[in-house]
Amino acid sequence: MTSNSPQPSPIVRPGDKRYPALSRGFNQRWIAEPEYVRLVRSPEEARDALAEAVRQPPKDPARTRITVRSGGHCYENFVCGADVRVILDMSPMCGMYYDQGMDAYCVESGAGNWHAYSHLYPMSGRALPGGSCYSVGLGGHITGGGYGLLSRQFGLTVDYLYAVEVAVVKPDRTTELVVARRDDGDPDRRALWWAHTGGGGGNFGVITRFWFRDLPEPPSMVLLTGLAWDWKDVAKDDFVHLLTAFGTYFRDHQDPSTAAGKLFGILVLNHVCNGQIGLFAQVDVDDPGGPAAMKEFLERVDGGIGATATAMRTSMGERPTVAHMQIPRVMPWLTATQTLDSSGEDQCGKYKSAYIRKPFDPTQIDAMWSFLGKERFTSYANKQSVIQIDSYGGAINRPPRDTAARQRDSIMKMQYQVYWTKNDPAESEYLSWIRETYRATFAATGGVPMVGGGVTDGCYINYPDVDLGDPQWNRSNQPWSTLYYKDAYPSLQRVKKRWDPLDVFRNAQSIRPA
Ligand SMILES: Cc1cc2nc3c(=O)[nH]c(=O)nc-3n(C[C@H](O)[C@H](O)[C@H](O)COP(=O)(O)OP(=O)(O)OC[C@H]3O[C@@H](n4cnc5c(N)ncnc54)[C@H](O)[C@@H]3O)c2cc1C
Repeated sequence: MTSNSPQPSPIVRPGDKRYPALSRGFNQRWIAEPEYVRLVRSPEEARDALAEAVRQPPKDPARTRITVRSGGHCYENFVCGADVRVILDMSPMCGMYYDQGMDAYCVESGAGNWHAYSHLYPMSGRALPGGSCYSVGLGGHITGGGYGLLSRQFGLTVDYLYAVEVAVVKPDRTTELVVARRDDGDPDRRALWWAHTGGGGGNFGVITRFWFRDLPEPPSMVLLTGLAWDWKDVAKDDFVHLLTAFGTYFRDHQDPSTAAGKLFGILVLNHVCNGQIGLFAQVDVDDPGGPAAMKEFLERVDGGIGATATAMRTSMGERPTVAHMQIPRVMPWLTATQTLDSSGEDQCGKYKSAYIRKPFDPTQIDAMWSFLGKERFTSYANKQSVIQIDSYGGAINRPPRDTAARQRDSIMKMQYQVYWTKNDPAESEYLSWIRETYRATFAATGGVPMVGGGVTDGCYINYPDVDLGDPQWNRSNQPWSTLYYKDAYPSLQRVKKRWDPLDVFRNAQSIRPA
C-alpha cells in the first residue's frame, strides 16, 4: 500500500477481527478499548486523522485520550490505557531513504529498530546507534533518547537528529504539520526539535518523520560473547567483585576513540531461582585493539571470582539466551545485532531504571545480593526477575550539542525487569519483588536513584515507571519530572505550552504545559 493511496486510512473498530490485536502493545498488562484504531500511512493522513479525532466528542466520558503508537513497546499504559478513545497507529509509515532536499537520512516514525538495521545499513553503510530489540518502534525509541550496543562508540540516536516532522493541534483545535530543524530560524520550531531529543514520545504531537545527519558507520566486524555463572557457585565475595569490577572497568574506559572505550557490556543479574547470572559483551574488531580490550574486560570481571564461567542455559530478561557464545566469536556487526535481538514473547512486565555515575557503593551491592534471593525473597520463584546493568558513557558523555537527554556523565544504566504471563495469580508478588528490590538499592536516596545523589542520576524516560509519582515508592524530594529530565523539564514545559497548549497528548507522566 502506498502513502498516496486515495482510499481513506483504515479504521479498525470493535467487532473487526484486527481489533483485539491492535488494542494492545508488547506489554500485555495494558489492553485498551478504544472507539477505533486508525492506521496512518502518510504525514498528511496523520494531520487529518488527528484533526478528526480532536473534532469528535468522546462517546464515553471515561475514554477521552488520543494516543499515538509506533512500535507498541511502551512499558506503562501510556498508549493502551483504559481511558483511551483513539489510537493513531503509525506502523504503516515505516520507510527510510536519503532525502536530497534535507541532505539527511529520513526515517518514518512507524519503522522499528530492525527496519533501521536491515534497510538503512545495507543501503548506506550507516546505522542509528539504537537498541537491540528488533520490534521497538522508532517513534518512541528515538524521542526518548534511544541507545544500544553502539552507543558507547557513537552516542545516542538523538545526537544525530537533524529534523523532525510533527502533526500538532493548534489552540483553535485545527491541526498542522510542522517540520522543526536543529538550525531552524524560528526559535519555537528549534525548541520543538530540541524537545524531541530526549523529551519522550506522546507529549507534543504525532511524529511522522525523523531526519538524521552524519549517521555513524558501524564496524564491519565485532567480537561478541555471552557467558554465565551458576548462582550456586557464586559466593558473596564473587558477587561484590563482579559488580565492582564491571563498574570500575567502565569508569576507567570512557574514551570512545580507544577499543576499550567502544566495548559494550551487559550484566544480567537474575534472581537466584533462575540459576544463572549472565554477561554479554561486544567490541569493534575493525579496531585492532578490539580483541585485547575484550580479553582485558573478561579478565577483570571473570578473573577475580571463584565461580567458573559457563554457557548460558537460562532466560536472560529481555535478552535472548545465547548458548554457544562462551568463547567470544568474530562476526559481522549486522549478524551480531541479529543474534542479540530480544523481541521475544509478548508478556506482562514491570520495569524500573537508574542512571549510575560511579561504581556501586557497598550498600547498593548488599541490597542487590539480598533481594536477588540470598536473604530476602528466598522462596520467590519467578525466574524472569532481573536487574540488568548496561555499560554507558563513552561517546554518550561527549554529545555534539545540547539535547533534552540530560544524563551525560553516567557510566552504567540499570534496568529492573520482571515478566509473567497474563492472569498469573502471583502478579502482586512479582510487583512487590521489583518495587522492594529497587527501593532497597536506592534506600539512601528515598528509594529512587536521585539526580545529584552521588552515585545516581535519575531515570530513563524510555523505561517509564509510574511508581516514581507515588509517594509510597518515591520518598525523595524529586518528582518523576526531575528524575527523568533533570534541569530540562521547565524548557520542555514551555515547548509543551507552545505546541500542545490543549494538552491533547497526555498520560500519567506526560509533560505538563508550563
Ligand atoms: C523488549 C524491549 C527492549 C528494549 N530495548 C531498548 C534498548 O535497547 N534501548 C533503549 O533505549 N530502549 C529500549 N527499550 C525501550 C524503548 O526504547 C521504549 O519502550 C520506546 O518508547 C518504545 O517505542 P515504541 O514506538 O515501540 O513504543 P510505543 O508504545 O508505540 O510508544 C512509546 C511512547 O512513545 C509515544 N509515541 C510512539 N510513537 C509516536 C509517534 N509517532 N509520535 C508521538 N509519540 C509517539 C507513545 O505515545 C508512547 O508514549 C526496549 C523496550 C522493550 C519492550
